[in-house]
Amino acid sequence: MKKVLPFLAVAFSGFLVYLFDKLWGASIKWDEVKSVKVGEFLTKEIEVYQILFFLGFASLIYLIGRRLFNKNNEFYNKKQRKLREFNKTEITDASILLRWGVFFDFDTPFISDLTPYCTKHDGAPIRFVHDRCPMQGCENSKIQFNEYGMKNLIESDLIDKWEKLK
Ligand SMILES: [Zn+2]
Repeated sequence: MKKVLPFLAVAFSGFLVYLFDKLWGASIKWDEVKSVKVGEFLTKEIEVYQILFFLGFASLIYLIGRRLFNKNNEFYNKKQRKLREFNKTEITDASILLRWGVFFDFDTPFISDLTPYCTKHDGAPIRFVHDRCPMQGCENSKIQFNEYGMKNLIESDLIDKWEKLK
């Protein structure tokens, strides 16, 4: 709903401009305007069909806006979205968390931004720097993370999952 507010605001401001124009166009004296009650004003100045037109116009803008904003979410089909949920795993023996993004080369899944994190420490997992944990003295600071090998393993697994997904 938040995303749609700007559209409604535009529609509504257009409506206000219309109202303003109507007021000026009719050269209504401001003294008279002040004395007119809102109820009378509505019945006199704004016909029901104008309100309906405004509501119809606003909902049309709302629908167009929603379509535009939903486009990104619908970029991937249902099966692809399901596979994209496999975007992390933890190697518990080594206390390494792996995160990545799943993308598609036509119909073949591949991963990008494979990033290891060390989970041997308190708090949030610490991202590797130069293929190892940046914390001195940590066991994972003495290893060399094989990104290419791990990427191949994950992609092999994803391709397998992809074939089994319905
Ligand atoms: Zn560490």
